[in-house]
Amino acid sequence: MNPNTPHPPVTEVVILGGGTAGWMTAASLLHRLGRLGVKVTLVESSQIGTIGVGEATVPAIKNYFESLQLDPYEVMRATNGTIKLGIEFDGWRHEGYSFIHPFGRYGIQAGPVAFHSIWNRLRAAGETAPLDDYSLGTQLCRAGRVLLQPREPRGDFEHFDWAVHFDAGRFAQLLRQFSEARGVRRIDARLQQVKLHPERGHIEQLLLDNSESVGGQLFIDCSGFNRLLIDGALKAGYEDWRHWLMCDRAIALPCAPADAHVLAPYTRSRAMDAGWTWRIPLQNRVGNGYVYSSDHICDDAALTALRSELEGEALAAPNMLRFRAGHVRKFWEKNCVAIGLSGGFLEPLESTSISLIQMGIDKLLHFWPGTDLAPELAGEYNRLSIQEFERVRDFIILHYSANARTGGELWRYCREMPLPDTLLNKLALYRARGHLVQYPSESFFDPSWVCLYANFGVEARSWDPLTNLLALDDLKELTRRLRGDIAAIAHEGSPHREFLRLAGALADS
Ligand SMILES: Cc1cc2nc3c(=O)[nH]c(=O)nc-3n(C[C@H](O)[C@H](O)[C@H](O)COP(=O)(O)OP(=O)(O)OC[C@H]3O[C@@H](n4cnc5c(N)ncnc54)[C@H](O)[C@@H]3O)c2cc1C
Repeated sequence: MNPNTPHPPVTEVVILGGGTAGWMTAASLLHRLGRLGVKVTLVESSQIGTIGVGEATVPAIKNYFESLQLDPYEVMRATNGTIKLGIEFDGWRHEGYSFIHPFGRYGIQAGPVAFHSIWNRLRAAGETAPLDDYSLGTQLCRAGRVLLQPREPRGDFEHFDWAVHFDAGRFAQLLRQFSEARGVRRIDARLQQVKLHPERGHIEQLLLDNSESVGGQLFIDCSGFNRLLIDGALKAGYEDWRHWLMCDRAIALPCAPADAHVLAPYTRSRAMDAGWTWRIPLQNRVGNGYVYSSDHICDDAALTALRSELEGEALAAPNMLRFRAGHVRKFWEKNCVAIGLSGGFLEPLESTSISLIQMGIDKLLHFWPGTDLAPELAGEYNRLSIQEFERVRDFIILHYSANARTGGELWRYCREMPLPDTLLNKLALYRARGHLVQYPSESFFDPSWVCLYANFGVEARSWDPLTNLLALDDLKELTRRLRGDIAAIAHEGSPHREFLRLAGALADS
């Protein structure tokens, strides 16, 4: 072939797995590439089913909806969805202390001076107002209210963002309908064997239990924790992070809401002796779970602890899950790309898995290969994917390592464990003078890090010296007004369920 002529693009794609990852990938590929002639076959096994969790998202989910031209409120109506303005962390610093990690900013930036520097300086001068008072997102959560974001915010303090909670099964169903309307070929069968090319080692065919064999040019492994293609067939290997993220099991158990009229616009995470529980309010039920370390509690005791947390009657049998925090060493190996749990998992504390699926899909579209499958593309895809996982990992580790809980061997271990160098560097710079470090591929930006530092009591010894050029009395007056404005705006919001009704997002509207 003439070296200047590109190889033809890959046009025959096979996805193994029809969970959230499989259907999100199918919908995106068909929407973006279907009209160009890219064909997608998706193999899933209704006998095996999906993991059945994954109900909380981060604001990036709205970009996914937009990329498919889906209206977020329509998605919410189809999935019993609710608004998520952040996460409440209860008992993480110590019992009795609760804070919200909001999607949004704090206070205002004063010229080049970041708000957290002003806050640190005021605290040194004896001001006691907590950081939470400067976050509209947090105040909305505390008031149980939701607002539309103003089109033209008057300042940083009016910036907040939102994500959704939804029924993951219904979301996958919605995307399946979307993909079927765009020509996906769906096969309900179980994978039995993977046929590899004898010399090159590429995947040639999936041999299924209905006697079909499915061939393609590119295979996407969305088989969940089974990792059947990327690791089972292609031996990508797994980077295990359990020494940093000890939780390796979870029990999910939905329940009826205590009061169907009151919906919290946030996820709740409560620290427990051997891990933490989640509570995710949907329109029709509450999703609950206990994520725990099997070294520190047995399954039966974890289930008893979870049941004691339920606010209403259990609506299903407990779903017992096992996992290992970490990621595959190669997300793209030969002609296979792993997206979703097959690529890795970092426990659900900050609801990042679905956003990592989105990043996987976006990168795949960005590096869409020719039939030569140039290994350089895979190399870059892998470098970026590992970086993305490491950035999320550090943020999650901080929730554990900064705890000051008494009791519970898990928490003592987490306080004492050696941390990754990247996180140590962030902590050192923040402690030195409140400096915030951002590496490439971050999922969490300055306000999120400030939120954790402030609420876990990670103290900055000093602050940006430019802050001292601002008069202390002016700062006191400015922050007093800010607190008042934020509290007043938060009360302009509508109660959550009323907001959903007004937005046309209620399932029964
Ligand atoms: C406890 C817990 C809580 C979570 N909470 C959140 C959250 O709040 N937010 C968030 O973003 N993420 C969360 N996640 C992650 C989230 O659930 C997943 O990222 C998401 O559901 C995608 O899963 P998946 O599609 O990769 O895998 P799965 O849902 O497991 O799908 C795997 C698919 O592969 C198919 N399959 C498997 N083996 C075979 C075979 N042999 N033959 C044919 N088909 C096969 C299955 O039938 C299924 O269709 C959570 C995960 C856990 C464990």
